[in-house]
Amino acid sequence: MLYKRSSELFVEALKYIPGGVNSPVRAFKSVGGTPIFIKKASGAYLFDEDDKRYIDYINSWGPMILGHAYQPVIDAVIEKTKLGTSFGTPTEIETEIAKLAVSMVPNIDKIRFVNSGTEACMSAVRLARGYTKREKIIKFRGCYHGHSDSFLIAAGSGLSTFGVPSSPGVTKGTAQDTLLANFNDLNSVKELFQANKNEIAAIIIEPVAGNMGCVPPVNNFLQELRSICDENGTLLIFDEVMTGFRLAKGGAQELFNVTADIVCFGKVIGGGLPVGAFAARTEIMDYLAPVGPVYQAGTLSGNPLAMAAGLAMLQSINNDAELFNRLEEKTAYLEDGIRKILTANNKTFTVNRVGSMISIFFCENQVENYEDASKADTPEFKKFFHDLLERGVYIAPSSYETWFITDALSYEDLDETIRVINEVTK
Ligand code: PMP
Repeated sequence: MLYKRSSELFVEALKYIPGGVNSPVRAFKSVGGTPIFIKKASGAYLFDEDDKRYIDYINSWGPMILGHAYQPVIDAVIEKTKLGTSFGTPTEIETEIAKLAVSMVPNIDKIRFVNSGTEACMSAVRLARGYTKREKIIKFRGCYHGHSDSFLIAAGSGLSTFGVPSSPGVTKGTAQDTLLANFNDLNSVKELFQANKNEIAAIIIEPVAGNMGCVPPVNNFLQELRSICDENGTLLIFDEVMTGFRLAKGGAQELFNVTADIVCFGKVIGGGLPVGAFAARTEIMDYLAPVGPVYQAGTLSGNPLAMAAGLAMLQSINNDAELFNRLEEKTAYLEDGIRKILTANNKTFTVNRVGSMISIFFCENQVENYEDASKADTPEFKKFFHDLLERGVYIAPSSYETWFITDALSYEDLDETIRVINEVTK
C-alpha cells in the first residue's frame, strides 16, 4: 500500500502533536490525504518511510538550493559538533559569516543572526519602529512574514481600514498598527500614507512574493515603493527570507536594482539549520541593544552548528560564478516544458516565475496579487498535487506556495517531471 508507514506514523503523531505536525502546512490540510513522513534526502530526492523516492520541488521550503545532504554543509556541521554545540558566548564563526553575508548583499553594513525567518521579520519591524519613532507598518495582502502577531492580520474592509486579526490570540491593539495594501497596487499604498501622515514606520514586502504562489513585482513596483518611503521618512523592509541568496547573490535588491533599508533573511542562509538574520546600514543596526535602545536577543542565536552550516552554504554560493545562470536555465527549461504540455492538453493556466521560484495557477487570469491568486482552481490543484505525488514528484501541498528549484536537479529529473505532468493532465 502506498504511504503505508507514513499513515501509521501520522496516526501516532496525532496523539501527541497538534495536527500531527510542527508547522501547519505540512499536514496536507488544503489538499487532503496523509502527509508523507520523510526518512532521508539526498541531492534532488526525498525518500519516504516506505522507501518511495520523490523528485523534490519544495526543498525544505527553500533552503536546499544546492540539494539535500549537500556535502560541504554536512562536513562543516559534523566537524563543528565535535567542539561542542552551544556556548552562549561570541564565537569567531559568527563574524566570518557576517563578513561574507555583508560582502554579498548590497546596502548592508551589519547583520544580526536569529533562529528563524519569523524572528528576523519581527525584529526588523521593532527596529524600524524604534529607529523612526513611529508605530504603524504597511504589509501586503498575501505576503507572509512569519507568525509574529503584527503579521497575522487579514484584510479589513476598504483600503484605509485598519487590519483585523486573522488568528485568535492576536489583539485588536496589535492589529490596528498593521495597515494592509494590495501587492502591485501603488494607489493602495498611497492612500494609506495619506490617511496616516507621519505615522508609518515601515513598509514590509516580499520583493517577489512566494506565499501566494510566486508573484513578481510589476511596473517598477519596488522602485515606486522606494520613492514613497524616501518621501515619507519611512523605512523599506525587504523580507528576503525566500529570495535572499536564491534570486542572486545579493537577492532581490541586486536583481531589481532597488535598495531596501532593512533586509530579512532565513532559509538559504542557514543551509537547512534554524537560522534567520536581519541586516541594514550601520546607523540603523546600531540602534539595536547593546549599542542602542531597541532590545533583541536569543540564547541560541549565532549557534555554532547553525553558523557552520550557513557559512558553508554561503561560501559555496559565493564561489560558484555559474550557479544562478544554471538555476535560471534549469527553471526556464521546466517552465517551457510545463507551458507546452499544459497548452497541448488544453488546460487553463498561468505560470509565474522569477529565477528558481516558479508556480502554476489553474486559472485564466494573470496573477499579480492575492485576489488574482485566489481565483485559481483549488479542486484541480488538489488532483494535480496527488497525481504528481503518487508518481514521485513532490510539490508544495497548496496552490499558494512556490516551487523551489535546486541545482541538484538534473535535466533527466526535469524531463521526468514534465513527462509526469503530461501523464496526469492528459
Ligand atoms: N518570510 C517569508 C517570506 C517566508 O516565506 C517565511 C516562511 N516561509 C517567513 C518569513 C517565516 O520564516 P520561518 O518559517 O523560518 O519563521
